[in-house]
Amino acid sequence: MSIIKIKDKTFKTSLPEADIKKRIKEVAARINQDMEGKTPVFLSVLNGAFMFTADLLKEITIPCEVSFVKLASYEGVLSTGKVREVIGLNVDIQDRSVIIVEDIVDTGRTMRRMVETLQLHHPKEVHIATLFVKPDKIEEPMDIKYSCFEIPNEFIVGYGLDYDQLGRNLREIYTLVDEG
Ligand code: 5GP
Ligand code: MG
Repeated sequence: MSIIKIKDKTFKTSLPEADIKKRIKEVAARINQDMEGKTPVFLSVLNGAFMFTADLLKEITIPCEVSFVKLASYEGVLSTGKVREVIGLNVDIQDRSVIIVEDIVDTGRTMRRMVETLQLHHPKEVHIATLFVKPDKIEEPMDIKYSCFEIPNEFIVGYGLDYDQLGRNLREIYTLVDEG
């Protein structure tokens, strides 16, 4: 196990690269089976999902497309919560099978908003593929068809996920060490 420091915080390795790759292979095999003949569109949510998307797509053997979207956050004028808009959707998803590729589902608010926005474009079906889910934190019940790992309610970085924009380049997953 190794310990790293990012800015003021300490993290320790919690998931080796080989385990991530192995699990992604299993999930990709299911997608290959389920989506056979459908030419799905993978919609990768930047920035966090870039590494997961690259490794997942290398294991997809059926014809498919991949495109990248971003979520822009701003404070709503009328609501107190953060509103997140999907930007950069430049592929026509009408009547297509869409698989959203996300790094982590925490409360689920982001994914809920994403799915609702995509539904406005009348896709045939929308599924979620996420590297991580925090089941204890989910507030919005939703069907996550392709989930690689369920993790406890801890803060993680690495493999695309950041702490204050740092750590996305790490090959393994690191968990925040509670220094009390
Ligand atoms: P949600 O809308 O599900 O609450 O938020 C999901 C987003 O919060 C993720 O896409 C990610 O950007 C961020 N997030 C949630 N948990 C973590 C975590 O443990 N580590 C990192 N780096 N980001 C997280
Ligand atoms: Mg994300």
